[in-house]
Amino acid sequence: MTLRGQRNWRLRCQTCGTEYDFGPMVHGCPECATRGKIGLLELTRSSALNPEDFSARSGRGLDRWLDVLPVQDKDAFLSLGAGGTALIPSRIIGKRLGIPHLYFKLEQQNPTASFKDRFVAMSANAARSFGFRKIVVSSTGNLAVAVAAYAAALEMESMVIVPHGTPAGILAEASFYNARIAVTDRELRFSALETAARRPDWFPIGLFLAKPVQNAFGVEGYRTFAYEVVEELGEAPGAMLFPCARGNGLYGGFKGFLDCRDAGLIKTLPRLVAAQPDKANSIEVSLQRGSDIAVELPPFQSVAKSTSEAVSSDDALDAIRKSGGYGLSASEEEIQDAVASLAEEGLNVETSSALTVACLPKLMKVEGFDRERPVVCVLTAGGQRWMDPAKKALSRICEAATIPDFERLLDRI
Ligand SMILES: [Zn+2]
Repeated sequence: MTLRGQRNWRLRCQTCGTEYDFGPMVHGCPECATRGKIGLLELTRSSALNPEDFSARSGRGLDRWLDVLPVQDKDAFLSLGAGGTALIPSRIIGKRLGIPHLYFKLEQQNPTASFKDRFVAMSANAARSFGFRKIVVSSTGNLAVAVAAYAAALEMESMVIVPHGTPAGILAEASFYNARIAVTDRELRFSALETAARRPDWFPIGLFLAKPVQNAFGVEGYRTFAYEVVEELGEAPGAMLFPCARGNGLYGGFKGFLDCRDAGLIKTLPRLVAAQPDKANSIEVSLQRGSDIAVELPPFQSVAKSTSEAVSSDDALDAIRKSGGYGLSASEEEIQDAVASLAEEGLNVETSSALTVACLPKLMKVEGFDRERPVVCVLTAGGQRWMDPAKKALSRICEAATIPDFERLLDRI
């Protein structure tokens, strides 16, 4: 059965190529399963973007693009205002490095302050349109909060699976939206998720490598990265950097840039750049080794917590290769310095987001980089959720018991 309004979307198995009608398939490819294999399903669209309709579109954020996203019921779609984030020029870092057209894409402007809102808006709305009333996710941060918020807005129940040691602020935020939170050992997280997803009334949010439990809907929301940047710049940037754990954001963005190229809106793809911590740099290592399958590295906990993944996705590798892009990495110290540089620009970002800025000096040295073309750093999330407020502020806080005391403080500045 093909669902209403979705005749141009199909699910296709990445392993065997079998195609399926649009629907709530979250346990991988049935054809592969009969042969004991795992086949992950991906959404593909047969219709193209209309090159004329960028300026004719109304609305903002994801709502502006519903006709080219896998949305079953446009009237019922609830975005919470996700997407449509600002693209602002750098005032300081670009000048310092000698990149005249450096831009920041401010994903902290999303409703739950991270790029995950684009992903969760798509998958939670898909779940509800398929008749689900319960969504489940395994996450240590931004994704957990986004799932809790969208479940609340869509009047659904949510279960958030987190490992021991998850920051209290994340738990407080998820419970603020009335999510149920299960704290487990790190190793147990994915089995817990699978257990929930095996129940017929739970829909899993998120993508899991080499696991049959996954949904193909969320990553489609990241196509809008490309639409927004192309619309704003009027061209493709020369390079676009994403902080990457698995690289789903980069991969979804790649699909969006392909749409723009096919529609004649851009001539060439931007070089897509994965920015990772230097001990969690699965993409960089895989590209260096010429591997099509992402290399798994030993576990490493970076200060860039959201990007501390041992293995990235094969799709992200493929997207980087096809776009002529790169996998780069930065040390812990370089990442912290980049956080401080962004503070000078008036931007409080999650440490992982600063990876893009931390990798810029290396990007400038790679063959084929054109510093005269626009460069976009995707700053994936705000820093507020991750801050230890006491740590930074203490040295700048002074007691002012009297007005003369206060005047002495003023005189010191
Ligand atoms: Zn298959």
